[in-house]
Amino acid sequence: RKVMFSGIKPTGDPTLGNYLGAIKNWVSLQNTYQGIFSIVDLHAITVHQNPEDLKKRSIEIAAIYFAAGIDPKENIVFIQSHVHQHAEAAWLLTCNSYMGELNRMTQFKEKSSKSVKESVPTGIFAYPLLMAADILLYGAEVVPVGKDQVQHVELTRDLANRFNNTYSNVFKIPKPFVNTGSAKIYDLQDPTKKMSKSETSNPNGYILIMDSPDIIRKKISKAVTDSIGIVNYTDEQPGVKNLIDLVCCINGRESSEIVELFKEKGYKEFKEYVAETIINELEPLQNKVKFLLEDKHQIENILKEGARKASEISQKTLDEMKKNIGFYSIG
Ligand code: ATP
Ligand code: MG
Repeated sequence: RKVMFSGIKPTGDPTLGNYLGAIKNWVSLQNTYQGIFSIVDLHAITVHQNPEDLKKRSIEIAAIYFAAGIDPKENIVFIQSHVHQHAEAAWLLTCNSYMGELNRMTQFKEKSSKSVKESVPTGIFAYPLLMAADILLYGAEVVPVGKDQVQHVELTRDLANRFNNTYSNVFKIPKPFVNTGSAKIYDLQDPTKKMSKSETSNPNGYILIMDSPDIIRKKISKAVTDSIGIVNYTDEQPGVKNLIDLVCCINGRESSEIVELFKEKGYKEFKEYVAETIINELEPLQNKVKFLLEDKHQIENILKEGARKASEISQKTLDEMKKNIGFYSIG
């Protein structure tokens, strides 16, 4: 089986965007590919994190993976910082990369646009190299991500090809896997922006995986729409389009069916339907998360075993990298 790798940063409470754009796809792909899923805390610290929050979120995200249906027996699940090979491989890739190619990353442009040049964190600039290490260490060929991460997977391909051409065929060449419907879930208050767990200042812009039914109803009822007043799936109505995408991702219906269903109805009824669809999907998951978090030891044991397996696989690749680069080794 081909290997797939993906992860989520513990930078904030995960959103419906993370669930639909990432986790839900992992679950549906886990029977086809060997899954390796990480809680990528080394990526999280590219922006300062409160230490207590970082700890708490890391285990919560693990619980969300399992509650969503990631099978710990079939997949390798671990916390990134528990596998030191990632940081080490990232350095080796850093020395095979160029400022220019990192400068072209739109995520870097977006995430650095708020800081003056002198104080843009170095980690924000360099993190695509760590992401490349994450993927390449496991020979992952499939990387299920949202649209915002596609460029980084393409960079990973370039880095892998460059290393292979400079030395020898150490790396498999990965491909991004993007699900059309859930590629990019937009902010409910500004449907031109991606829904994000750490960049949205207005909590009404995102739905958290752990939001209560009442909060979900409230946020959906406040979601920005338009003055057209007709439920239609078109770029002229980005707010409504986003809500249709959300429900279609969840219940597998076609956008045309939803439009048909609400032909004679207004936004109020449509939004009620959207909210209930989301609640039906998230409520059972939330109950499982709460149940799993009652026994952190069980989660810790899975993560420990995951880190052990991940170390074993990634060390082999790292050894190959080092050998090819020409580092002196003592048998
Ligand atoms: P941050 O704002 O801290 O970057 P984030 O919400 O973008 O947080 P990440 O941890 O960066 O979350 O991304 C985890 C995964 O979720 C990635 O595969 C990413 O592509 C996907 N993802 C994030 N936001 C969305 C979204 N709005 N729609 C679809 N997929 C998303
Ligand atoms: Mg992100």
